[in-house]
Amino acid sequence: MRIAVVGAGVVGVSSAYLLARAGHRVTLIDMETEPGKGASAGNAAQLSWAYGDAMASPALLKHLPAILAGRDPAFCIRRRLDPDFLLWGLRFLANMPSRRWWHNTRDILALAEQSRQEMALLLAETAIVFDYRVAGKLHLYPDKASFCAARPTVERKRQIGIDQCMLSRPEAEAVEPALKAYQGEIAGAVYTPDDALGDAAAFCRQLTAVIIKNFGVSVCFGRRVAGFERYRRQLTAVRFADRDPLPVDAAIVTVGPLIRALVADLPEARSIQPVAGYSLTVPWREGAPHVSLTDVKRKLAFAAIGDRLRVAGLADLARPGAGFAADRFAVLRETASAVLPDFFGQAEWQHVWSGERPMTPSSRPIIAQSRKIRGVYVNAGHGMLGWTLALGSARRITDMLA
Ligand SMILES: Cc1cc2nc3c(=O)[nH]c(=O)nc-3n(C[C@H](O)[C@H](O)[C@H](O)COP(=O)(O)OP(=O)(O)OC[C@H]3O[C@@H](n4cnc5c(N)ncnc54)[C@H](O)[C@@H]3O)c2cc1C
Repeated sequence: MRIAVVGAGVVGVSSAYLLARAGHRVTLIDMETEPGKGASAGNAAQLSWAYGDAMASPALLKHLPAILAGRDPAFCIRRRLDPDFLLWGLRFLANMPSRRWWHNTRDILALAEQSRQEMALLLAETAIVFDYRVAGKLHLYPDKASFCAARPTVERKRQIGIDQCMLSRPEAEAVEPALKAYQGEIAGAVYTPDDALGDAAAFCRQLTAVIIKNFGVSVCFGRRVAGFERYRRQLTAVRFADRDPLPVDAAIVTVGPLIRALVADLPEARSIQPVAGYSLTVPWREGAPHVSLTDVKRKLAFAAIGDRLRVAGLADLARPGAGFAADRFAVLRETASAVLPDFFGQAEWQHVWSGERPMTPSSRPIIAQSRKIRGVYVNAGHGMLGWTLALGSARRITDMLA
């Protein structure tokens, strides 16, 4: 089959890899001049095999009044109500009750497990280098009440085979000695030893090179896809903004949050909204954590990626494509410097970044054939977990096409 994969972020490159490996003739397309420049470029690097927790949750519901009153700096709502956003918000609310949350979370965890297995195969088959490491992860809880509230979820996850345990502060410090210098409150931690991390942008670049060399994948970078041509309801070609159409038998749309620009052809894009986040990367130095950390109170994720230390966080419902907001980045920097001043309080070499998570109301990605055009498949809406879920989603799309 001639297949176009539109979008060369983690989801697109992973899809192109598994489709090409299954024997399809793949063209990988991106409007940027190299892969991994979208939401995959500066994310928190976590391969959160055990943290598929959907964003719409009972805990967030309780916290909603504080968010709406602007009392939680980690969240910010900066956009006007339009019908799509209103509907998305109502569906998000409908996903918050405990039963819905666990249903969504269990589904995401199953996809994460599929990704973990595909990652093991990929690592065995390719020699790509992207600072991959089974770093383990500690979720830090600020007080006894929130720590105790985490126990039922840990127990539920253990029942489905996830290795996770609850540690006191001294036990957590034994796992990660850098916590001794951590300036935030820690009543206890949930530890997941098997969670991994890796540089998603390096993964995109390296895997693209492999699929070009080993599977003859064609790339078409620096070209924006404007829509799809069809005969009756069947896809015939991918349409570009600035070149002739590319005839194909199938197209996989993996354009992340920018899928909304294709809504005329893909009505399912309406249920994906961007949730912006920020990251700051500094050089890793002695005394910085090795284990990945999530500060539950401040909603910050810290990761040691090769010779760098990155902090990522914030969840802003802003206008799509709003871009970098200096005042919001300042919140990330100040919050990170307050807890790890030796690393984020210094004015040394650093990399600042913002990106948009493509979020559905349930946090579950859309992996399905388009309702409108046969032959077009959507693989988008991976929200906070696109890096974690990319290979599992790619496997599902490849199986659908088989
Ligand atoms: C601050 C932050 C931290 C995060 N941390 C993590 C984490 O630790 N772990 C995790 O699993 N996930 C994390 N995520 C989420 C994850 O980064 C995203 O879910 C993931 O990158 C989405 O991948 P994607 O391939 O769908 O989209 P993208 O990476 O955005 O790729 C889409 C590609 O499509 C291209 N494109 C768009 N429109 C067109 C068009 N019309 N024509 C041609 N090309 C087009 C873009 O140029 C881009 O390259 C984080 C996100 C943010 C913002």
